[in-house]
Order: sequence, then C-alpha cells, then structure tokens
Amino acid sequence: MDYSVLVDVYERIESTTKRLEMTELLIGLLKKTPPQIIDKVIYLTQGRLYPEYVGIELGIAEKLAIRAIAMASGSSMDAVENELKKIGDIGLAAESILAKRKVKSILDFFGAAGGGKKLTVEEVYSTLDRIARTTGEGSQDTKITLLAGLLSHASPKEAKYILRTVTGRLRLGVADMTILDALAIAFCGGKDARPLVERAYNLSSDLGIVAKVVVEEGIEGLKNFKVTVGRPIRPMLAERLTSAQEILAKLGGKCVAEYKYDGERIQAHKSGSNVMLFSRRLENITHHYPDACDIIRNNIKAEEAIVEAECVAIDPDTGEMRPFQELMHRRRKYGIEQAMKEYPVSLFFFDCLYVDGVDLTVEPYPKRREVLSKILIEGDRATMAKYKLVDDVEELEQFFEEAVSDGCEGLVCKSLTQDSIYQAGARGWLWIKFKRSYQSKLVEPIDVTVVGAFWGKGKRAGKYGELLCAVYDPDSDMFRTVCKVGSGFTDEDLEKIPETLKPYVMDHKHPRVDSRMKADVWFSPEVVIEIIGDEITLSPLHTAGLGAIKKDAGLAIRFPRFTGRWRFDKKPEDSTTVKELLEMYKLQLKKIEA
Ligand code: ATP
Repeated sequence: MDYSVLVDVYERIESTTKRLEMTELLIGLLKKTPPQIIDKVIYLTQGRLYPEYVGIELGIAEKLAIRAIAMASGSSMDAVENELKKIGDIGLAAESILAKRKVKSILDFFGAAGGGKKLTVEEVYSTLDRIARTTGEGSQDTKITLLAGLLSHASPKEAKYILRTVTGRLRLGVADMTILDALAIAFCGGKDARPLVERAYNLSSDLGIVAKVVVEEGIEGLKNFKVTVGRPIRPMLAERLTSAQEILAKLGGKCVAEYKYDGERIQAHKSGSNVMLFSRRLENITHHYPDACDIIRNNIKAEEAIVEAECVAIDPDTGEMRPFQELMHRRRKYGIEQAMKEYPVSLFFFDCLYVDGVDLTVEPYPKRREVLSKILIEGDRATMAKYKLVDDVEELEQFFEEAVSDGCEGLVCKSLTQDSIYQAGARGWLWIKFKRSYQSKLVEPIDVTVVGAFWGKGKRAGKYGELLCAVYDPDSDMFRTVCKVGSGFTDEDLEKIPETLKPYVMDHKHPRVDSRMKADVWFSPEVVIEIIGDEITLSPLHTAGLGAIKKDAGLAIRFPRFTGRWRFDKKPEDSTTVKELLEMYKLQLKKIEA
C-alpha cells in the first residue's frame, strides 16, 4: 500500500476535531488496507511501531533529524535549523525544505522518485523499525543514513509525517476507543460487535493483534480470543464510596476487604524462568524491578502464570512500608543495583488471572484468590494482601482504621458473588475502594492531566508559573479543564516541570483538549499529577461538566495544590473523570447541607 494513502488520511484527520468524522476516516482507511499489514497501519496511526507494552519507542533526537533532512535535501544544517526555528515543527520544516530540495536523489535523477517509485507503508514501517532498533556504537550515523534514505524517496508531504513519526510527535489524537469503534463498524457489521472487539483488546492490550484477528477470523476469532502470557491484560479498577455502610449495601451485605497498599500496581507474567512485569498503564517495567522478578520466579509455583500485586517500597532497616513516591527512585535506566539496595520492595499479591493454560479472568474472585493462595509461597518479601471477610459495618470500619494505621491508603472491598469475574479494562462496582482522604478533606485528591501552562512572574519569571489541568470525559474522549495549579510545588518540582513536559509541547491546543482559557504553552495530554483543593466550585472559565449543574458554568477546584505525587503510573485517560467530579460536587453539597 502506498504511504501516500496514509498521509492523505492523516491530513484529513488533523483537520477535524469531531470523533465521528475521525472514525469514518479510519473506517475508510482500514477497509483499504491489505489484511497482512493492518496491524502496522494501526500502530503507525498511533505514532508507534508496536503496542505500547513492547517498549520499542521511536523518538530520535531533533539534532539527528535535522542532519537527515539536510542530507536528503542537500541543504545545509543551518538552513534546516533556521527553518525549524521559524516554523517550530520538525515535520513542517522537513516539508518546506524538501519542497525546495536542491540535490535530487539518484532515483530522482533517473526519474523514479516523486513520479515512478512511490514509498510504500511496508518500506516506511521497516525502515522506522530498523531506526528504532539500531543501538550501540555508530548507531547515530546509521539512524541518520536510514532516515535520509527514506526521505530521499518521500514527497514533501510524506516527509512531514515521517519526521513527526520518527521524532515521536505524530499526534493525530486518535484514541484507542476510536480505533475499536472503527474496527467494529468496518469488519464486524456495526457497533453491536464493539463489546467483543473491546474484550479482545482488554485481554491483549494490543490493537494490532485485535485488528488482525478481526480481519482474518471475524467475529468467531474474537469469541475465541485468549489470554496470552506476555501480553498484558488491561487492569480491573475500583469504584469508590465514602462509607462502610454504603459499601456493604452495594456488595450485598458482605465482601472481602483487603488492605489498599500504597505502591505501584504490577502485573507479573511468568513463563518458566522468564518474567515480565507491567505497570498499571501497561508499560514494560521488568528492568526496574529485578528483585520483584526474582520473587515471581521463586515464589510462584506454576510453570505459566499471570498474577497481580502491589509493589511497595519498604524501609531496608525496619521492613516498614514507605510512601509511594519512593518508587520514583526505581524508575531509572542505570544504577538499578544501587537503587535496589536503597529502595527495596515487597510484593502484596491480590489477584491471579491465568495459571498453566487456565484463563481465570472468567472465574469469580473467591476462586481466583484460592488459586493464588495455592500457587504463592509466602516469604519475607512476598505475601497475600491482608484481608478480612466482613458482613458488619463496624467491623469494616475497624479494619479500615487498622489498614490506615499500618500505613495503607485504606481498603479495597471486593464482591464475593458468582459474577465477580475479573473485569479487564473496566472500572466497576465489583471492587470498591475506601480511602482515608475521603473522610477528612472536603475535596479528596484528584488526578488531573496537564494540558497547558502559563508563564510565571517574579521568582518564577521565565519558568512555568501555573499549569492548566484537566479531567477526562470518556463519553467524548476529551480532556476538560478544571483548574490552574501553581502551588504545592517544591523548588525541585519547579526545576523538573519544564523538562518533564518538554516532549509534549505543541504549538496549538491539542484536539482532545477543551478549554476556554488560552494557555501560553499547550501540551498534548500525557502527564498526570495529583492535586488537592479546598472545594469544588462552579466557574464559567472551566469546561469540566459545563452546563451540567448550571447553564454556562463548569466545575473548578478552588485553591488547588500539587500533592507532590506525579502519577507516572497513570495514563491521561486514567485521570479523574468529569462524572466522578460531578459526583464529588454533589456529595460536597450534601455534606454542606448536613
Ligand atoms: P488510586 O488512584 O486510588 O490508586 P487507581 O485508579 O490507580 O486508584 P483503582 O482501581 O481505583 O486504581 O484502585 C485500586 C488500586 O489500588 C489498584 O490499581 C492497585 O494499584 C491498588 N491496590 C492496592 N492494594 C490493592 C488490593 N488489595 N486490591 C486491588 N488493588 C489494590
């Protein structure tokens, strides 16, 4: 398939902000795509080469990209750099430079490029793949040569998208959910098949595989879709309630209450002595935790298994649990051995999704727990999550107090009914969390996505003074603003913010961001932080829940402060939702009335 077909669709996707139109464009594209490369087309459209969990990322440095553009066009590095400074976008700079290209490539010379030989999707994909995989000595030169070779066959418009892709900045704003819709409509007869498509995605976290199954085996293939060791299962999530009474009522009068440990969620996949660890947002974090891998290798008695645990930092001297933030020190490429000594971890196991050929996601929770307790050999650093079977409000409250005084965030209360299956990728009422902060503060901490920033003044001149933050609206797949946050940041945070946000800077508002304010700098929605405020108020300036309570007013957080928690374990779509915020607002009103 010609790469130009992809590029035409990308251009049209970029010119719309309407999800329906985007879906239509995708359907058109997928129907035109030969089945054997449908997975590649999907990854490319998401600006990647593989599903996220594989961990092979594009993202070559701007400097290298500039050299490749210069090489392919015969322009000087200075000329490319100046163009980039003027336009501010590496893709547009490549397009403009290549449109004026001085040296025609050899193929051009023979009348091949531009006219005869056209770039194919396969060629673009395989070259990008080689670029991504080239490492070690001399790799920079190899990457540049490969990229320049590709560009010398590319039309200026194709060059624009190749450059954005290779630098990790292709941000078409096509969400996973939009791709699932498009697959259901294009190949399964319509939206009715969407739950089946979504189930396959929830069990594999791989849209490429799902697309392949859909085009090659149709609905039957989806029905037979299986859990596979090595492909992360999208996590089951908890709803929230604020009192023991409500929780018990919701769970039919009894539940198993488990400590809610304050660490990083880990989904461990074991196959023989091979172990892979995935984070809550399904990144491959195996290399951050060699010690946790050893625990899985030695303490899980099964040839193949998928289990879930909370990985908690512990004090090496006392064995006591340490706060979640300490795990940040384990998120590094180098010096893991040292970090492992300074910040050791313990695993608290709470679920079991697959053991030796048996898919347990369809089994009720008591059964999964029973299997887990059979395959886990408990030890110093590996225990089952502490739990209690409860059917009494007072008992639940007491257990909650106990969890908090033991250093936990609270409890996760789990349903014991026959239908308490593992709901991959869903936040549902089979698990209900009961957190300490819900009880003491008017507004509990919320997770927000940073979508923009405003320049600071005085001491913060030249730095970001405030961050524009948004909550997530899953119904329309949009991020809607809720506050500007400027306090709670330490000097260290302030230093770190620009660096952390730099890869996401955009020269315009991202299509999935809904804002009435005009930020000085816009970001693509990627980074999640936790904030706390004094209360939720109505505000005409913000777009979260706009019109839901009062005409022309959205919800805003009053006196928002950063709590110090960078939620690196969360995707932007895992931020607090508009619906949750509305519920909190209503709850707050009730409390005030009481
Ligand atoms: P939060 O921001 O409250 O951690 P979340 O969105 O990450 O929430 P939820 O499903 O709402 O996730 O809350 C459950 C989280 O609590 C899990 O993702 C997991 O990391 C953690 N956790 C700690 N102990 C347990 C446990 N015993 N059972 C389930 N989850 C647990």
